[in-house]
Amino acid sequence: MADQIQQMPKVQLHDHLDGGLRPESILELADAQGVTLPESDPKALGEWFFRGAAQGDLPKYLEGFAVTTAVMQDEESLQRIAREHVEDLSRDGVIYGEIRFAPVLHTARGLSMEQVLEAVLEGVRIGSETTGTVARIIVCSLRHMDPAISLDSAKVAVQYRDRGVVGFDLAGDESGHPPADHNDAFQFLRQKNFNITIHAGEAFGLSSIWQAIQHCGAHRIGHATRLVEDDTVPGDHRGTLGEYILDHRIPLEMCLSSNLHTGAVTDLKAHPFPRYLREGYRVALNVDNTLMSKTTLTREWELARELFSLDLQDFERIAINGVKGAFCEHSLRKTLIQDQIVPRFRALQGDAS
Ligand SMILES: [Zn+2]
Repeated sequence: MADQIQQMPKVQLHDHLDGGLRPESILELADAQGVTLPESDPKALGEWFFRGAAQGDLPKYLEGFAVTTAVMQDEESLQRIAREHVEDLSRDGVIYGEIRFAPVLHTARGLSMEQVLEAVLEGVRIGSETTGTVARIIVCSLRHMDPAISLDSAKVAVQYRDRGVVGFDLAGDESGHPPADHNDAFQFLRQKNFNITIHAGEAFGLSSIWQAIQHCGAHRIGHATRLVEDDTVPGDHRGTLGEYILDHRIPLEMCLSSNLHTGAVTDLKAHPFPRYLREGYRVALNVDNTLMSKTTLTREWELARELFSLDLQDFERIAINGVKGAFCEHSLRKTLIQDQIVPRFRALQGDAS
């Protein structure tokens, strides 16, 4: 089945634009812009990002982003990187992807958040047109930043809702930065009937997931790895937060390799993903950051197959969960499931039997 995984129709909900650049592109852009890099050859640069990220600590994992965002400060570069990102999704067998990034991190050389978004949306449009992969944007803000920036970012996200922006996310270092600090932004988004996802339960425990859902109105949770702590009797009883997430079909955007690299888990074999999948949670697999975690979605699916003995039916369930959790319009979600995922998995099933 390994060679089939690349061909399987996949859905990507948790994918950072600034964590998924091609090393070759970083080198070319840095050269043109006079930005100094720690390495001068693509392979060595890719390894540098991976080495920096895989230290079992979220703040250390996040350090590489200062380098990627340094070469993403003008419209041409942003457009190119967004286009390449969609091309890479297509090569990975992704039929629908939501790409996230924080516009405010790209305003250091004078661009407005609107200019940043327009450049990225144009790159996504070109990439989608040439590959057929459908992609949408999620606007991020960062936990450690001034909550006023989150509110501004939320306003820009809503402003572009008809141009391909489908959601808002709060990312960054979780510990010591509770999501409720940014409640003005979340209140605004809820008033506007906008979609919210929040990174929670990665570097911090249950209270972070609970606060994201019950205080901030998150419709999805990024990671939720530590939801597993909601067991009164481990493996036997589900706590009320887990029950709520299961009953309300709250999608969990789970990421394997990245969780190992940030220290959210110490052993992938013990990752809660297969348990959530079997218990019927709306879980999907994601890359988080292809550059920092040296991965692709195909690789993450292969990893899940090797670690948890998943079969074709499991992968179809994961793809459907991804679509059901997507922030795009309902009619597109229906088309993705009925016209792509179901028939393509049926064909693969036919090949296998
Ligand atoms: Zn993330």
